[in-house]
Amino acid sequence: MQEKNVDVAVLGSGPGGYVAAIRAAQLGLNVAIIEKDKPGGVCLNIGCIPSKSLINNAHLYSEGLALLKSGGALVDTSGFDFRSVWKASRMAAERLSKGVQYLLRKNKIEFIPGQGSLKDSRSLLVEKEGEQSLVRARAIILATGSRPRNLPGFSIDEERILSSTGMLLSETLPKSIAILGAGAIGMEFAYILSSFGTKVTVVELMDQVLPLEDPESAKVVEKAFTDRGVVIHCSARAEKAEMTGEGTLLHVQLKDGTKTEIASDKLLVSIGRAPNTDNIGLEAVGIRMNRGYVETGDYYETSAEGIYAIGDICIHPQLAHVASKSGEIAAERIGRLLSGTEAPTETKINPYAIPSGVYCHPEVASFGLSEKKAQDLGVRHGVTRFPFRAIGKAVATEAPEGQVKIVFAPDTGAVLGASVVGAGATELVHEILLASYAELTLEELAQMIHAHPTLSEGIMEAAKAGMGRAIHI
Ligand code: FAD
Repeated sequence: MQEKNVDVAVLGSGPGGYVAAIRAAQLGLNVAIIEKDKPGGVCLNIGCIPSKSLINNAHLYSEGLALLKSGGALVDTSGFDFRSVWKASRMAAERLSKGVQYLLRKNKIEFIPGQGSLKDSRSLLVEKEGEQSLVRARAIILATGSRPRNLPGFSIDEERILSSTGMLLSETLPKSIAILGAGAIGMEFAYILSSFGTKVTVVELMDQVLPLEDPESAKVVEKAFTDRGVVIHCSARAEKAEMTGEGTLLHVQLKDGTKTEIASDKLLVSIGRAPNTDNIGLEAVGIRMNRGYVETGDYYETSAEGIYAIGDICIHPQLAHVASKSGEIAAERIGRLLSGTEAPTETKINPYAIPSGVYCHPEVASFGLSEKKAQDLGVRHGVTRFPFRAIGKAVATEAPEGQVKIVFAPDTGAVLGASVVGAGATELVHEILLASYAELTLEELAQMIHAHPTLSEGIMEAAKAGMGRAIHI
C-alpha cells in the first residue's frame, strides 16, 4: 500500500476543504487534499454556482420577454432550447472547478482522488478503484459537506422525484413541478422554472416562504412569485407522493385541514441537507457528535486531538462562505500549533455576522438580529425601513418592489441586523454588515455620501429614517 506523510490532510474539496488547504499551504505547511468527486464540492459543481448561472439566464429570459411583449412585439419562443441555458450552467461549474485545480497546483497542494476515511487520529485510508493508500498527517481537517435530505415516503429517484442535484443535472424542463420546501433552494428553483414557463406549485410546512428570513421580506417574495403564476401553499403538510402513469401525485393537507392532490410531471424535494458524517471513520477515533453533526470547539477542533471539522458537517448555517471561513480559522489554528506561524487568531464565527442570500428575484439578504429575534430575546431595539419604490434607481430600472430594513440599538444607533429584499439585495446587504462589523452607527451610515442614482441610497435613507429625517419619503 502506498503511504505518504504530510503536515495537513484535508478530506473533501468543497469551499470549506479547498480554502482550508490553500490557507494551510500559505502558512508553509505541506498539504494534501482527498476528494472522491470533482474539485470544488457541492457549491461549485451542483450548488451555488450552476444555480446562479440558471437564475441569471432565467432572469434575462423572463425580463427580455416581458420587455418585448410590453412593446407590442409578437414573440415566438417555440425554437428556444433550454439545453443552451443548462450547458452554460455546466460550463460555469466546470470552469470554476478547473480554477480550484489550478489554485491547488499553484499552492503546491497534492490532490489525491479517492474516497477517504479516518483510519486513526493521524491517518486517512484512501480508496480508488480497488486500490488503497494511506495518508499520514500531523493534523486532519474533515470537510465532507452535505447531501440532500430525504423525507420518508418521498423516495428520490432523480427521475420523477428529484433532489436539487437531479434538478441541476437535468437538461430538460418539466411542464409542471411541485416543489416541497420553500427555503432558499426551493424558491430559487421555483424562480428558474417558472421563468421558463414550467407550472410551479410550492408546498411549505411553515407559515411563510423563506422561513429563515424576515416575514416582511418573505411577503414581498411571495407576492412577486404569486404574480408570476407560482402557486404557493404555506402551513401545508405534504403527506405522501405517488407515481402516476406519467408523473407524480402529491397528497397535501392544507392550512385549513382540507386535503388536496397536486398532479405534476416532477416533484422536487428541497427540505434541507444532511451532513456527510457516515462512513468516514468518525467512530474509529471517537469524535463527539450532535444529531449527526460534528461538535467543534472555538477553532473547529473536534473532541479528537489533531482532527478538525469545518463546513456543512458542523453545527452552523450550511452556507459556502461559512464553510470557507471555518476552513480558514481551522487552518490558521493548525499553522500556529504546528509551526508557530503568526496568523490572525480568529475563533468561531460570530453568528450575528453571517450574511445569507436568496438569489431569486426579488433577492433577499439578511444578517444579525432580526426584529423577531430581538423581540424574542427581549433586546431593546429600533427598526427602520425604506421602500425601494422611493429609490430613484429602483424606479428607473423597474424594480420598485422591496425594502431596506435595519434593526438598531436605540440608545447608541449601533446596527444590530438587517434584511433587504429587492433588486441587488445580496450585494447591498454587505454595506450594512460592514457598518455593523466596524461598529458604525445609523448616523454614520446616514452621513456618508451615496452616489445617485444607486440602490445603496436606500441604505442611507433607511438610516436617516431611523432618526426621523429621511428625505425621499
Ligand atoms: P461540500 O461543498 O459539500 O463539499 C464536500 C466535498 O467532500 C464534496 O466534493 C464531496 O465529494 C467530498 N467528500 C465527501 N465525502 C468524502 C469522502 N469520504 N472522501 C473524499 N471526498 C469526500 N451556499 C451559499 O452560501 N450560497 C448559495 O447561493 C448556495 N446555493 C446552493 C444551491 C444549491 C442547489 C445547493 C445544493 C447548495 C447551495 N449552497 C449555497 C450551500 C453550499 O453549497 C454548501 O454550504 C457548501 O458547498 C458547503 O461546503 P463544504 O465544503 O462544507 O462541503
